[in-house]
Amino acid sequence: MNIDLHCHSNVSDGALAPAEVARRAAARGVDVWALTDHDQLGGLAQAREAALAAGMRFIDGVEISVTWRGSTIHVVGLRIDPGNAALAAGLARVRGGRIERARQIAQELKEAGIDGAFDGALSHAENPEMVSRTHFARFLAQVGAVDGMKDAFRKYLVPGKPGYVPHQWAALAEAVRWIREANGQAVLAHPGRYGLSAAALDALLAEFRAAGGEAIEVVTGSHSPEQYRQFGAIAAQQQFCASRGSDFHGPDEGAEFGSLPPLDPALRPLWHDWAL
Ligand code: AMP
Ligand code: MN
Ligand code: MN
Ligand code: MN
Repeated sequence: MNIDLHCHSNVSDGALAPAEVARRAAARGVDVWALTDHDQLGGLAQAREAALAAGMRFIDGVEISVTWRGSTIHVVGLRIDPGNAALAAGLARVRGGRIERARQIAQELKEAGIDGAFDGALSHAENPEMVSRTHFARFLAQVGAVDGMKDAFRKYLVPGKPGYVPHQWAALAEAVRWIREANGQAVLAHPGRYGLSAAALDALLAEFRAAGGEAIEVVTGSHSPEQYRQFGAIAAQQQFCASRGSDFHGPDEGAEFGSLPPLDPALRPLWHDWAL
């Protein structure tokens, strides 16, 4: 069974509407599918309807932005109740401030010689409240300031480069608490992406577990095959469940549905006790 538990629609920083993402996942062989937009539940109803029509099992999800020791960390929540008030209130708070941050990003880009980035980024954002660095990257690529989205995140938008504006997201423990209050399961997303030392990663995993976190993403579009092995070994040693998801954002923007290998069968998958 192809289980893909991480991706985005244009309700956050994906390029396609939730129903289009569903049809694309199904067409590429996904059987069990979660939509996990950043800090937003607004696409889940549409996604569920399209997923069921396309013959997939649907899992309600979200990816929460967290600030941990000054780094941005992502926590995926799965099988959440989208009607849970504590989760909705927490996410509303995390979403706040993106527009003001976007103005500051645009100001930095202007100082670096790139005009029109605020309107440009917003023109790529279906939902202005969720304007994201991804929308700036699409704008920078569109105007030819960079050679594709990857290049945008090399030259701009990351710490130390123009267009990086630090932001205070949720605390780790509160993000996990919101997920659990909504009867969901918390997954540490793409741990290989944070550039943490082994000691810092251990500290993060310890705090994540203490908060109620259950799984780490092992196979994801953000990891190399070497990192599948590295984080698979960490999951096994530390007795976390393992999760898998493409982190699809759009056609020709990184990982695609159906392109990732399965989890190593020696790992305990997050879905080991799901009725699938
Ligand atoms: P934000 O939440 O506005 O800070 O934007 C973060 C989003 O930018 C992530 O969810 C990714 O979709 C995207 N992103 C971050 N770093 C990179 C990168 N190095 N390459 C491509 N996309 C990235
Ligand atoms: Mn994203
Ligand atoms: Mn992420
Ligand atoms: Mn993601």
